[in-house]
Amino acid sequence: MLSIKLPQLFDIHQVPKVFREDGIISGYRHPQSSALDCILSSFQMTNETVNIWTHFLPTWYFLWRFSVLCSTLNFLSESYTWPLLVYMLLICVYPFTSSCAHTFSTMSPEARHICYFFDYGALSLYSLGCAITYSSYVMPDCWVNSWLHQHFVPIAICNTLFCTSLSCYSRFLEMQFPHRSKILRTGAFVFPFIFDNIPLFYRLLLCCGGSCCHSEALPSHCYHLLFAFLTCFLFASHLPERLAPGRFDYFGHSHQLFHICAVVGTHFQMEAVLADMNSRRAWLIAQAAVPSFLSTLGALALSIILNLGIIGIFSAPLLWNPHHSANHPLTPPTKRKQQ
Ligand SMILES: [Zn+2]
Repeated sequence: MLSIKLPQLFDIHQVPKVFREDGIISGYRHPQSSALDCILSSFQMTNETVNIWTHFLPTWYFLWRFSVLCSTLNFLSESYTWPLLVYMLLICVYPFTSSCAHTFSTMSPEARHICYFFDYGALSLYSLGCAITYSSYVMPDCWVNSWLHQHFVPIAICNTLFCTSLSCYSRFLEMQFPHRSKILRTGAFVFPFIFDNIPLFYRLLLCCGGSCCHSEALPSHCYHLLFAFLTCFLFASHLPERLAPGRFDYFGHSHQLFHICAVVGTHFQMEAVLADMNSRRAWLIAQAAVPSFLSTLGALALSIILNLGIIGIFSAPLLWNPHHSANHPLTPPTKRKQQ
């Protein structure tokens, strides 16, 4: 009889410390899997499988929404749509990068760190995409052309550098100071989120009831914020697996729920941005400067280059001194067995 040999899975005490996740006891892949094993493992039930698919499938959803917008809007010649173009590119890139990071993170300890450096870089660029669209379509009427409006995108570029650097750095503290590492990584993503949403918080809290409320987009904005808070809570709390270690190894652990809340939140954010962009088009074109190439695609290109540079700086010591970096002391690799 033909049978497919699936790679063996391991328990938490069989894999080096760097691969262990709080509250996840079983379902670990081999810590030195080949690239092919990693790809095949996405079709095998491991503790990463749902993490991979909860960001791989949404990538296709956002690509589909992007392709529909490409056929209805004129991204090439209408500069009013360029902020949306940047945003749509980034909401396709961040779940795809995350899905790849989860797929290939068990090739080696170094690969694991580098995979997640790219994941953090993509999330950080997504926060820039939010800033560019919010600056162009979500800014309250009374803040249009203000100092904050004019400096919103340059500050957001600086935020991506801060966010990527701090989140990559937090991985180097993970072994010795897990609590401090978690606080730094959470802060690295919460800070740009709060900055990006300042215009929205102002609209919701201080000018609703007035002329700058723009109520059509508000329900979607509120759902986005609700899911964003849930995302942050799940990331920081490690619930539910913290309460019952081992019970949610394959289905229902916090990272899977975190992925789902992030993409549902992004879906509502995209709907809100589209609603604001369409309903405020005439007013924004008349009152504000038209989005320039430099403040949209130029800002994106510059941020990609700078963030890749940061990822390169953090990756270089791992590539030059594999297995010797103080941040990931390895226990002897588990002997590979055939099932
Ligand atoms: Zn993830």
